[in-house]
Amino acid sequence: MPAPVCSCFDLAIIGGGVAGLWLANRAKDAGYSVVVFESGTLGGGQTLASQGMIHGGMKYTLAGALTGASEAIAEMPKHWRECLCGEGDVDLHHTRILSDHFFMWSGDDLGSKLSSFLASKITRGRVEPVHPDRRPPLLRHPLFTGSLYRLEDLVIDAPSLIANLALNMDGHCFHIDWNHSHLSKDKQGKLYLRIDSTEQSLEIHATRFVFTAGKGNADLLTQAGHSQPAMQLRPLQQVMVKHFHPFDFYGHCLGTDTTPRLTISSHRLPDGGHVWYLGGSLAEKGASMAPEDLIQLAEEELRRLIPWINLQGAEWATLPIDRAEPLQPGFARPDNAFVTHVEGTNLLVGWPTKLTLAPNLANQVLELLAKDEIYPDLKTPDYQQLHRHLAHAVVGKTPWEIAFPPKMSAEDALALRFKEPDEDDE
Ligand SMILES: Cc1cc2nc3c(=O)[nH]c(=O)nc-3n(C[C@H](O)[C@H](O)[C@H](O)COP(=O)(O)OP(=O)(O)OC[C@H]3O[C@@H](n4cnc5c(N)ncnc54)[C@H](O)[C@@H]3O)c2cc1C
Repeated sequence: MPAPVCSCFDLAIIGGGVAGLWLANRAKDAGYSVVVFESGTLGGGQTLASQGMIHGGMKYTLAGALTGASEAIAEMPKHWRECLCGEGDVDLHHTRILSDHFFMWSGDDLGSKLSSFLASKITRGRVEPVHPDRRPPLLRHPLFTGSLYRLEDLVIDAPSLIANLALNMDGHCFHIDWNHSHLSKDKQGKLYLRIDSTEQSLEIHATRFVFTAGKGNADLLTQAGHSQPAMQLRPLQQVMVKHFHPFDFYGHCLGTDTTPRLTISSHRLPDGGHVWYLGGSLAEKGASMAPEDLIQLAEEELRRLIPWINLQGAEWATLPIDRAEPLQPGFARPDNAFVTHVEGTNLLVGWPTKLTLAPNLANQVLELLAKDEIYPDLKTPDYQQLHRHLAHAVVGKTPWEIAFPPKMSAEDALALRFKEPDEDDE
């Protein structure tokens, strides 16, 4: 067997969700040579399962005070907006914006508490009450008597975000099969990646490896021989309902908890079908429930909150999924993106903790590189070797595409369109 060929990069990023791809974009633009390795599909972990809400942290003020979390992410919607206009530090002009605002509403019982809080100094200018004439179609009904507020935050289409970030990487995102690859350390304790092949193996060396594999970071750390940084998982079970209500809605219904009672985002299926994706406390409390019980609870919750909506004939499904975060004292929600350098190694490990905070994670990584005086190596790495050994990573499917596959294949639908009217009669 010939000796392995070596390819050297400034950064080798493992995990192609929003965190890895956003970082890859920033690092490439800064002149670093970058490669991304993805074992599943790009975005196919939490990112494509997210509700796409790029928020300034308002929902974290529900406890009644501006917490660290809301301070840290307050600037994020502006940052994303600049990127979406092609004027920010990552070019997102191919990313679809699903909505440029979302709503917060409450039932009668909480109305006055919510109104006085949202009208208070800490929220001023970030959230506006909605006049009854301007209500979204979902809440434009005489039976709606709660309080309604509008936040100028964004909802983005996660699949187009991931496709956009991958496109900007010029095909430098590769699929990795861990049955034929492994992480090893050289004599200086530096991590490298070996990709086995029947012809000639490949070794990937990098000034820094970065693990951005979400929930997969824990296994990667074990493979690399480390137990820190530790991870915590926040289990959720989201509910999806394919319905016939033709208007999109994005918003949080507030209850007495500090997390929204129900969060609704709207998504379209490739055949034009409408899906509401339900999260918030419903998904947190539903994490340990049997899917059919959670679906029943979700139906009851919608009947209580928007009883005028007819959901007859709707199709239901659930998605159990974990949010991956760095371990916090008391299982608290982290305030910010998290990145750390594993001491004595060439390894960084990070979790953005929220889609919204992916820019923040990339900033932290670039700051760590500058602190360690790691600057772009001007030699162009040999991407050809990677193309020879590995397939490109592809963008994943959304949970609703998987849960509600088209009744007819694309080929059959096309054949139907071109069918002669009397073809069956012959
Ligand atoms: C239901 C839900 C709703 C959410 N809604 C929102 C929201 O509205 N707004 C918001 O700001 N945040 C939201 N979040 C949080 C947000 O989605 C995540 O914080 C963010 O997507 C994490 O990105 P990531 O790239 O770190 O992880 P992931 O998106 O999980 O990506 C990790 C990638 O690494 C890959 N991988 C795993 N193991 C390996 C391995 N060994 N080798 C190579 N690749 C590997 C995976 O296949 C995956 O593609 C939500 C999360 C969930 C679960």
